[in-house]
Formats: sequence, structure tokens, C-alpha cells
Amino acid sequence: MTEHVRVAIIGGGIVGCSVLYRLAERGWTDTLLLERRELTSGSTWHAAGNVTYFGHYPGLTRLYVDSIRIYLKAERETGRSVGFHPAGSLRLATTREELDAYRRLAPMYDDLGIEYRVVDPAVMAELHPLLATAGLFGAAHTPTDGHVDASGATHALAGAARARGARIKRRCPAERLRRVAGAWEITTPEGAVRAEHLVLACSFWTRELARQLDLDLPLYALEHHEVITGSIPELRALDFEVPTVRDPYAPSNVRQEGGGFLCGVYEAHPRFWAVEGIPPDFGEDLLPPDLERLEPHLLRVIERLPAFGEAGVKAVNNGPICYAPDGCPLLGPVEGHEGLWLAAGFAVGIGTGGGSGEFLAHWMVEGEPAHDLPMVHPSRFSNGLTRERCLTLIRETYARGYALPEASGIG
Ligand SMILES: Cc1cc2nc3c(=O)[nH]c(=O)nc-3n(C[C@H](O)[C@H](O)[C@H](O)COP(=O)(O)OP(=O)(O)OC[C@H]3O[C@@H](n4cnc5c(N)ncnc54)[C@H](O)[C@@H]3O)c2cc1C
Repeated sequence: MTEHVRVAIIGGGIVGCSVLYRLAERGWTDTLLLERRELTSGSTWHAAGNVTYFGHYPGLTRLYVDSIRIYLKAERETGRSVGFHPAGSLRLATTREELDAYRRLAPMYDDLGIEYRVVDPAVMAELHPLLATAGLFGAAHTPTDGHVDASGATHALAGAARARGARIKRRCPAERLRRVAGAWEITTPEGAVRAEHLVLACSFWTRELARQLDLDLPLYALEHHEVITGSIPELRALDFEVPTVRDPYAPSNVRQEGGGFLCGVYEAHPRFWAVEGIPPDFGEDLLPPDLERLEPHLLRVIERLPAFGEAGVKAVNNGPICYAPDGCPLLGPVEGHEGLWLAAGFAVGIGTGGGSGEFLAHWMVEGEPAHDLPMVHPSRFSNGLTRERCLTLIRETYARGYALPEASGIG
């Protein structure tokens, strides 16, 4: 039996569920999302959930701002908590150049209508009493961003889509893709699906799947660590949650997690994972952690947050994270393949997933994007890159962390 739908989406992470929801809100409910295992079972379930409004590009910042708006809307519609903590963020200025660049961004935030200010070390110490501010020039403060529960947000998006009539099939992998009679045919163990539009939203699996359509997408997975500390008495004693600190010097992001800290680290010499192919039995798995590799970065984190060094490590998660060479996703139509869309390669898919679903759904339904965003257009890599060149660029983008200019979109 072959099933016919208007849109098939492959991948039930935060991005696929967001596209499904935003299409449904526009009345496109003849849709089916296929997920090989369970919703969130790729990178989404173990993500820290950080969403920052800081960035140098208004189009990308809109994706972050729209994400929070859409997660909260899905929460209201379903009653399912997305766990938003509006703790705000501090992007540290470790040089005079960074401070000047942060100051130059103020008019962009005025235009976007987002609260933004550059603060001096005295104000930083008030906002974050555990931060050692010596040697810092100041920080960009975005008081209304924060972090969400990535799984909660995904299930809220999925629930809100379902409530409008969209369908989701779990434990149903897309095995084969081909173009048949003016439609996209997806073969699954439960039969074939033919769709007018096909959205590939399956992160680092997308490269393998797209190969069946003779597409060579520059998407690979890196190992990415997060370190969770034990409880910190000074933090617990505060009657507010401290803002997330993003430090170009480590580079790292550190937010409050209960009574302790959760730190994401961008290694100088990151390791790729599964370059030759994703293991077919890869499930809700983490990779072996390697604290030794992180040590030089963590020592820098401790310079900024001495309490981090005293708290003891409670857990270390190492998970695969998908990267394109410039750190931005592939989001939009595939030229020369009518009805084929990409929503893959998200390094900050929690920060931008909601807004990206909105961006793509608008494009699919209206035939053009709501705003110009060439930084994410899939055709920017259409000239092809050798694998070695692609891996080198990804490595450099990741290791650059929060350095200026922030072309990577890392959040
Ligand atoms: C340790 C760590 C911390 C992170 N912290 C943050 C953070 O704080 N903020 C942030 O923005 N981002 C963070 N990220 C990145 C974030 O996790 C990803 O950007 C995001 O989860 C990507 O979502 P996705 O929907 O694109 O992909 P995924 O969540 O990986 O979903 C893809 C889905 O596709 C499914 N799939 C694959 N192949 C098929 C197939 N053939 N048929 C059907 N289904 C298929 C998979 O099972 C999977 O469920 C972090 C990542 C790591 C590793």
C-alpha cells in the first residue's frame, strides 16, 4: 500500500517537529513525520537547551527570538512545559575589540525590539556574583533569553502539531528515497509514502539519506561535551538564577543547572564521530567522555568561575553534534529538486529550531521566505567541497567558538 501526503518530514528531533507544527498552523495538515526511533532520540534529548539572543546578524537572531516565542506558544496550546528559564546571558568582552563590536550591535537590537545593553564589570558582578571580572572589559547583556528543556519543547511542538491534525509515525525509519511520477517516494518497513514535498530534518543522518538522491551534503558530526557540577552553596544561596556566561577565552558557555553549573566546551582540537557512516544501531546513546581532553578549557572556566573548580564533577555528557562548514544549518529548498527541502545541520538546533521551523514552513507555503537569509540557504555549498576541506572548515568553525567575527551562529 502506498500512502499519499502533501508533506513528509524525516526526523523527529526539535527541528522536524517544529516544521510539522508551523506547517500545521498554516493549514498544511496533510503531513506525516517519520521518526526511526523515538522523538528527540538524536541530539535533542541530551542538549543543554541554551538559547541566546546575542549575535551579529539580525536574520539569525530572529531565528532565536522566534524559537522562544514558538516554544511558549506550543506550551500554551498543549499544557506541556518547555521549561523556559529567562535567566539572560552575558557575552564576555575579553578584549577592547570585542567590547567595541558589542557596542556597535546596539542599533540592531533596537530595530529588532530586543533588550540589549553593554555592561561594565561592576554591573556584571551584580548580575553574576560568582563571576571573577578581573581583566574583563565588560559584557553584552541580553536579559530576556535563557534556556529551555529541549525534550519538553520538542514534545510540546509535536503535541501542538498533532492537535491540528498532523501525523507522526515513531519507530518508522525512512529507508529509501526516490523520485517517482512527480512525487517523492519514501520506503519504510510499513510501506511506501509518496509526498509532494519532502523535508529532510535528520541531522547528521541527512548526508547518508541524501546520497540516495545524488546529493553530497557537507554535514558531519563532532563530539561535543558538557560538564555538570555538583551543588554550589554560593549559588544556592542566591534568590535568582544567574545569567548564562559565554566566554570567548575558554571558549565555553556556563549556565546554572539547579544548584550547580552546566558547562558546554568548544575544544581547540575537536574530534569527528562516525565520518565513515552512522552506526545503524545508534540509539539514544552518548559517546565515551574524555575529561582529560577538556582540561585546558576547564582550567580557563575555573579562572572565571572559581566555584566551578570546587564543586566537583557530577556528570560529563559527550554527544554527537551536527555541523556544516560555516556552523549554520542547511535550511531551504534544494535547487533542481522540486519539492525537496533541507532542515539539517543544526549546531544550535534548540536555540534556532522553533524559528527555523517557522522560516521553512513560511517558505514552503508562501513560495518565498519571510525574510532574506542567504547564510542558511542550502545552495551556498552547491559548488561542492572535498571531504577533507569540509572537515577542516568544520574543525576551524567549531574551535573558533565565540571569537569575532561571529559567523558561526554558535549559541
Ligand atoms: C552535549 C550537547 C549539548 C548541546 N547543547 C545545546 C544547547 O544548549 N543549545 C542548542 O541550541 N543546541 C545544543 N546542542 C545541539 C542540539 O542538540 C542540536 O542542534 C539539535 O538537537 C538538532 O536537532 P535536530 O532536530 O536537527 O536533530 P536530532 O535531534 O538529531 O533529530 C534527528 C532525528 O532524525 C531521526 N532520523 C535519522 N534518520 C532517520 C530516518 N532514516 N528515518 C526516520 N528518522 C530518522 C533520528 O532518530 C533523530 O531523532 C547540543 C548538542 C550536544 C551534543
